[in-house]
Amino acid sequence: MQGIDALLLSVGPDLPWLTGFAAMAMERLSMLVLPAEGRPQLILPAFEADLVHDREAVMDLVPWAETEDPIALVSRSLGAHRAGNLAIGDHTWSRFLVALQAEMPDARWQQASNVISSLRAQKDAAEIEALARAGAGVDRIAAELQTGEIPLIGRSELAIAADIEARILANGHRKVNFCIVASGPNSSSPHHHTGDRVVQSGEPILFDFGGTTAEVDDAPGYCSDTSRMIFTGEPPVEFAEAYSALQAAQEAGVRAATVGTAAELVDSAARTVLTEAGLGQYFTHRLGHGIGVEAHEDPYLVGGNDRPLAAGNAFSVEPGFYIAGKWGARIEDIVVATDEGPRRLNNSSHELAIVEA
Ligand code: ZN
Ligand code: ZN
Ligand code: ZN
Repeated sequence: MQGIDALLLSVGPDLPWLTGFAAMAMERLSMLVLPAEGRPQLILPAFEADLVHDREAVMDLVPWAETEDPIALVSRSLGAHRAGNLAIGDHTWSRFLVALQAEMPDARWQQASNVISSLRAQKDAAEIEALARAGAGVDRIAAELQTGEIPLIGRSELAIAADIEARILANGHRKVNFCIVASGPNSSSPHHHTGDRVVQSGEPILFDFGGTTAEVDDAPGYCSDTSRMIFTGEPPVEFAEAYSALQAAQEAGVRAATVGTAAELVDSAARTVLTEAGLGQYFTHRLGHGIGVEAHEDPYLVGGNDRPLAAGNAFSVEPGFYIAGKWGARIEDIVVATDEGPRRLNNSSHELAIVEA
């Protein structure tokens, strides 16, 4: 493990990704101590030990009673490594890290993502199929929006979002991670907070939604994330032309996402198309983010990231343009880099759907 003596994992996605067991996010500490050699130990509240059924083969359980100090148990489990190189999960609460640092003043600390994120970024076949199932679930909802099955005009963004969220749960997901419904001028805010604005006719609506699928046996859930645009009526020529450039930019980004291509070059492949259409200044965010057990993870498709894409990397390709106070648009697919070329995991129509209801 790259000069690391032990990995300490608590809440967050790394622990379930490795073991199938998720620590509860609360003031009672659950923490896996995974040394470079030797058996991992899971320190956890004694009354939760029954949740870790059947994992004794891969790790020892160290249950702690209500009157015991779990920080001291972590230190004891580390043995001589308590003065070593320790990597701690990025999502661990600071109250635990601060207490561990006080307990083990000689340790050197770093983020576990230094060790784990490149492993997590390279999906195996089962993970890619899990992402594809998640993608197919939200594609069905995108198609229901595009065909007018979900009424829009005269309803508030929140009412439409509630409808979409129920459908996310009905389409193979255990939870909704986000649901942006940004209508009219609200579409010019990339992370608009869905609100009570009522959708009018003759305006764009930006949809961006996704969730996490259910765990299967010990495999954690995987995330979906897609963006599509609808115009409530015939779009003005100016919007239609900008949208065509956006479609071409998204296509260029997907085509560029081949194994061995630097992440930042995928970003610039899409960005160049928008710049040539005079929209470059309105594309204000990176092209994409990795996705897996977390909705945003490595690799990031952003200027400055010259790491080449590897087979099995899964990420969003989501160019947009946002003209403040006027309108905006985004098209987003999840894509996997494979040795056979880029594979889209979202396959609903990329056309600007015109819905009059
Ligand atoms: Zn976003
Ligand atoms: Zn999204
Ligand atoms: Zn995204």
